[in-house]
Amino acid sequence: MNRQAFLASIVARQEAWDIAVIGGGATGAGIAVDAASRGYSVVLLEQSDFGKGTSSRSTKLVHGGVRYLQQGNLSFVIESLKERALLLQNAPHLVRDLEFVVPNYLWWEAPFYGVGLKVYDLLAGKYGFGPSKILSREEVLKHIPTLEQDGLRGGVIYHDGQFDDSRLLINLVQTAAEQGACVLNYARVTSLRKDSDGSVSGLAFRDEENGRDHNVRARCVINATGPFCDELRRLDDSAAAPMIAPSQGVHIVLSRDFLPGDTAIMVPHTRDGRIMFAIPWNGHVVVGTTDTPIPAVSLEPKPLEHEIDFILDTAAGYLSKHPARADILSVFTGIRPLVKTEANNKTATLSRDHTIQISKSGLLTIAGGKWTTYRKMAEDSVNQAIVLGRLPERPCVTKNLPVHGFLTPTKTLGPLANYGSDAGQIAELMRQQPELAKPLHEALPICGAQIVWSAKHEMARTLDDVLARRTRALFLNARAALAMAPAAAKLLATVLGHDEAWQARQIADFNEIAAAFLPSQ
Ligand SMILES: Cc1cc2nc3c(=O)[nH]c(=O)nc-3n(C[C@H](O)[C@H](O)[C@H](O)COP(=O)(O)OP(=O)(O)OC[C@H]3O[C@@H](n4cnc5c(N)ncnc54)[C@H](O)[C@@H]3O)c2cc1C
Repeated sequence: MNRQAFLASIVARQEAWDIAVIGGGATGAGIAVDAASRGYSVVLLEQSDFGKGTSSRSTKLVHGGVRYLQQGNLSFVIESLKERALLLQNAPHLVRDLEFVVPNYLWWEAPFYGVGLKVYDLLAGKYGFGPSKILSREEVLKHIPTLEQDGLRGGVIYHDGQFDDSRLLINLVQTAAEQGACVLNYARVTSLRKDSDGSVSGLAFRDEENGRDHNVRARCVINATGPFCDELRRLDDSAAAPMIAPSQGVHIVLSRDFLPGDTAIMVPHTRDGRIMFAIPWNGHVVVGTTDTPIPAVSLEPKPLEHEIDFILDTAAGYLSKHPARADILSVFTGIRPLVKTEANNKTATLSRDHTIQISKSGLLTIAGGKWTTYRKMAEDSVNQAIVLGRLPERPCVTKNLPVHGFLTPTKTLGPLANYGSDAGQIAELMRQQPELAKPLHEALPICGAQIVWSAKHEMARTLDDVLARRTRALFLNARAALAMAPAAAKLLATVLGHDEAWQARQIADFNEIAAAFLPSQ
């Protein structure tokens, strides 16, 4: 993973790529893995860092989706549960089985949710993570001692998957590169190139690090820009009607004191009729999410005050210790790439959840879906790209393709467990340079070796890349991330060959980004 080398090979290439992918989130990275592993030549371009968009801001669940069960979308739940099992099989270092309790405070909840979650087990079939079970009040409290006890009657326990979204994303980009794809971050696509007959034949992108423009020729161009896909569609056709109805979701992060065990809470029906989770994650607790329609998309969406209040109020109904604003360590916001139903009239919907649209000029746009189903979305997109680009037919191989870092988890890796098979090399770096083994802040088990590793091997380019997505410092504790910024900037500058002025600019930029992760008091 060397940015300079990838850029050089893009610039040097005379012939057309089989597939050019725009967008380095779960969808684009998945497509690059799928296409490269089938043996096609692939270039992936991301305007910012890999995973900067929605794909680092999810609830971090690999799940069938209890919500879709409630909506009666059973075929989608079955597809998602199958993908959940494939992800656990192919990335066991990042995906794990997690127990969830649905606490019951009303008499009808135990039989109602008990039956619903038995249906969930049934739909998972041989891909199930474990059976659901009705629990007594005492059993519920054994799993979650900090649950609100007033009126608690019992609960239902079930299993689903959990993961680290941006770590999986980076590992997918690495997998794509290992399969032969050329991947470039900080490369913003600025226009599409067309043949004399008006069909898309390539694109132009700007290297955001130096402002230089480059052209790429491709037999098929895939727009995998998630919530941003309408901007790209308008580069193709200025009159394109919007496909996306953007909506944002907010999560708050609290200390483990609020939920000390290894079991998550699932609230199936909040005041506004949504599902809410409180989930143990990386030594902290993530609580969310909201669903607020927004007029425009941005790379740094900001939480709204009423969304934070809503999460705190809902959490207070279920936790014995009520969280307040001062307890929030970080707050993060992501934009759902929801596809408008009106737009579906003219699209080929391959599943009820994600939508593939092919424009008159042959631009393939894939939107919607969720992290859990990224592999299936990629398979469907590449199957269409083969037809559009007149590429030789080759079967998809990703069902059994291990993701970079593949390693059956062991307890011995400690805080480096999420790096899977790379953990040994990072530990070796710490042995060789003990100053890199020290935590950069007392509140988080993140050390200098991780910063050095991500700059050398994971194409991290900025302070935000290392503190938000290669490590999860910003998402776990925004104040701690700000405090470790100068030390991390220095390490990054040493590896990437930058001076003190660069470090100062990085710290200033990071301060601005981190402001959106700190709630007002
Ligand atoms: C609050 C929330 C919680 C969620 N929780 C879950 C969950 O628990 N489990 C689950 O399975 N799913 C979940 N999802 C859904 C899942 O996160 C998304 O479906 C998925 O991340 C979308 O990925 P994407 O690649 O399509 O979009 P993105 O991750 O947004 O990627 C699109 C990329 O395109 C890039 N881009 C845009 N324009 C250009 C350009 N001109 N040139 C180059 N690049 C460009 C952007 O910078 C961005 O990185 C959640 C979503 C939200 C909002």
